Amino acid sequence: MANAHNSHSSLTNSRIDLLQQEWTEHNRFHDHGEYPCPVCRHGKVTEMPLMETFSCNFCQHIFTTNFDKQLLKMVDSQLPLTWYWNGKIWKGIHREGAEVGWTYVVCALAFVVIPTSVIGTGVYLFPPMSGSLLSWLPLTWAILTFCAHLSCIIWLIIEYYQFPIFLYVRALKRKLSTIDH
Ligand SMILES: [Zn+2]
Repeated sequence: MANAHNSHSSLTNSRIDLLQQEWTEHNRFHDHGEYPCPVCRHGKVTEMPLMETFSCNFCQHIFTTNFDKQLLKMVDSQLPLTWYWNGKIWKGIHREGAEVGWTYVVCALAFVVIPTSVIGTGVYLFPPMSGSLLSWLPLTWAILTFCAHLSCIIWLIIEYYQFPIFLYVRALKRKLSTIDH
């Protein structure tokens, strides 16, 4: 009785395994498939005719493939962007040791805070004559310094974590310009 029950459940299990295997095979990243683009998340990535590379029909980026490891690597970028296909979506692969140390955080803060506070102190110690033509300039200059330095840091963070925001914006622009023409 127990044996019969066991063999029944193992049969069900193997059937589930088969289904699972079939599903995985079906959803594997292979050369004739069509996949969402991991860069613009808008276009479709397919194999280029007579080539071993893949390309996106929206952002037109070119990728090399590794079907054994289920990897897609962008080749027309300075950044080594790689994604892993998990059967449903692309997962971004971060470079090894991509942990940001405290030194970097302190440097980034100093880079933003020090120039701003130098200019801010100057404005505080030597306030412009009120009513003069350029009295708005020192304060605006301090704010601009803060924004410029902060945007440098944000840029670095985006580059570091391989967030393809600029590629996305560029692709959108290209799309809009093709609509215009
Ligand atoms: Zn794309």
